Amino acid sequence: MHMAILADRRFNLHIAWGLVILLFIVAGITGPVNGAQPVTIWAGLPSEPEVALTFDDGPSPLYTPQILALLRKYQAHATFFVLGRKVEEYPGLVKAMLKEGHEVGNHSFSHPRLTKTDQLNRERELETTRLDLDLLDCPREHQLIRPPYSAFDDRLVSYAAHTGRQLVLWSIDSEDWRGLDTRTIAKNVLSRVRNGSIIVFHDSDEKDRADRQPTVEALKIILPALRDRGYRLVTIDEVMTENNH
Ligand SMILES: [Zn+2]
Repeated sequence: MHMAILADRRFNLHIAWGLVILLFIVAGITGPVNGAQPVTIWAGLPSEPEVALTFDDGPSPLYTPQILALLRKYQAHATFFVLGRKVEEYPGLVKAMLKEGHEVGNHSFSHPRLTKTDQLNRERELETTRLDLDLLDCPREHQLIRPPYSAFDDRLVSYAAHTGRQLVLWSIDSEDWRGLDTRTIAKNVLSRVRNGSIIVFHDSDEKDRADRQPTVEALKIILPALRDRGYRLVTIDEVMTENNH
């Protein structure tokens, strides 16, 4: 009887240690490694009065220069998620973005839905654009990807993780892609903005057909309003990092 209780206790001890080890393994798999950023990013830090404006689908010879001028006027920095096809067409606009302190990220080469694209073509879409950006001396430290249509799956997350990239999504959609008027775009942003917001706009579209003048006009309302509310307008890299100012 006595021996049976001892053996039973030992058995319980084994289970307890087993659970502890299992917890460590699970924490190791799911937890961030050495405080590294997660692979998918939806917003910045809620503690900092910073907002990241992002522009997809460009560059556009018509709208991007207007947006760059406005950002310069309000001393704002932003992040442009560009299409490789247009980087090759308008390299000067990408150079201007970099020269003025903006961040440039990868929005694929031709704007396919990556979740519906086979692995080889996914890689071709992302790596060709990366090469186009390399040729323009775009910094390699933070290689940000915004998947077209914000469509991603486990495979894309895994690909980003293995190649040292991050998938940057957003917390506020200006909905300018719907063809909204200036006031509605401005309201969509200003009624929802908060610390760490990542806001998505479009300075073009995949077919170069969209009228983005309402986006430009909305920025004339949004930029001074955000500045008056005390927000710093920063790049994605800055909105993710504390105390780097
Ligand atoms: Zn897009």
